[in-house]
Amino acid sequence: MAGNDPRSPRRTPCEVRPGDRPDPAMISVAEARRVVLAAIAPLAPRRVDIGKAPGHVLAETVHAAEAVPRFANAAMDGYAVRAADVAHAPVRLRVTGTAAAGDGPKAAVSRGEAMRIMTGALMPSGADAVCMVERTKAEDGGLAVLIEESVSPGTNVREAGEDIAAGTEVFALGTQLGPAHVGVLASLGIQALLVHPRPSVGVLSTGDELAAPGDALIPGKIRDANRPALLAQLGSDGFHGVDLGIGGDDPELLADRLRAAASRCDAIIATGGVSVGDHDVLKVALEKLGGAAMHSLQVAMKPGKHIAVASLGEQHVPAFGLPGNPVAALVTYELFVRPALRAMAGCQVPGRPRITAVAEADLTRRRGPKLHLVRVTARTGTDGVLRVRPSGGQGSHMLMAMARANALALLPDGDGVRAGGRVEVLLLDADGLSLR
Ligand code: AMP
Ligand code: MG
Repeated sequence: MAGNDPRSPRRTPCEVRPGDRPDPAMISVAEARRVVLAAIAPLAPRRVDIGKAPGHVLAETVHAAEAVPRFANAAMDGYAVRAADVAHAPVRLRVTGTAAAGDGPKAAVSRGEAMRIMTGALMPSGADAVCMVERTKAEDGGLAVLIEESVSPGTNVREAGEDIAAGTEVFALGTQLGPAHVGVLASLGIQALLVHPRPSVGVLSTGDELAAPGDALIPGKIRDANRPALLAQLGSDGFHGVDLGIGGDDPELLADRLRAAASRCDAIIATGGVSVGDHDVLKVALEKLGGAAMHSLQVAMKPGKHIAVASLGEQHVPAFGLPGNPVAALVTYELFVRPALRAMAGCQVPGRPRITAVAEADLTRRRGPKLHLVRVTARTGTDGVLRVRPSGGQGSHMLMAMARANALALLPDGDGVRAGGRVEVLLLDADGLSLR
């Protein structure tokens, strides 16, 4: 690729270089994503307990069989009163009793009366407002109360059904459930519901150069970074990672392993051996198993470029072949596999926000019609503006910059972005984004 190096001193600006011309076999990231997603269907719905529901996507629409709050209750500790009685406060009322949270119905509050009431307690009939305790003075050892401030009807009362009216739609099919959703479902007395399962995903590293974990590194061998990194990524994305170990560079053996994996996983990710070299055996193995349903794609992106996707066995288990270079493996996972796994989980949005940031340093790219994904650190300053800078060396084998990055800057065709310019970024991790 020396001829494609923009630092080459012998080149004139108008010279056409091989990398400038689109390779006819090369497809855009968007096109590649379409090919990948075309092979994906949501997993069949399953009934789960609400405790297991967070992270899952609803496969049914949920309606409220009951109202929340179920009954009108006090929003404050104080005195339940008739608002009309305290319109000319200060006014003294007779205290008829106490209503605590959990108590059943009490005697009605009549004219000139008040009832001591605690937050969450059922409003006694007759009363239509609560005077907060801080604006009152107990008198006669608690038998009377001086109300110091008037209140209008409804003050400090939580009305029945004001959060959820009985019979209404609560969550639509396709809603991704989080902790607060679980709280709502629990408030409604719903214990189980129909969701799409989160896929279980097998991860296999391929390559004769990979030493088994714990083995001494003899010259020529390297440690396997992809499998642990992808298993960790799957875990943090809420999928179930299944460790399929290391496979060598024998296409027959790889095909056997992939076939066995397809019988116990919803999807498979294998890395290494998907480009065009003599040892790119994963592609051969996927072709053997996937037949016509295997797509070997050359994508106009960097890092990345070669990926493969196939459907294995009668269950059409999607198998993704990703590049061996660790950064390329993680970045192609982000762009293609993660959206596909989310689609299997029933998600209707691809995830990961794309937002505009300001470049704090020059973000350069090699020439050529490719989307460059630069590993960057993104931070918002005290002014709230998101700024990004490269997080380290950008080689596709250099995982350190990926470890430090919380975003990928997207540099389409062109000369890159100068310091101070605007750049679109794919946000990978919002925690730690803000210094405020
Ligand atoms: P390949 O895609 O098989 O041509 O591999 C590209 C580069 O990635 C080579 O330098 C491989 O040694 C390296 N590589 C492949 N698999 C892994 C892995 N699991 N962990 C770390 N590096 C790898
Ligand atoms: Mg290889």
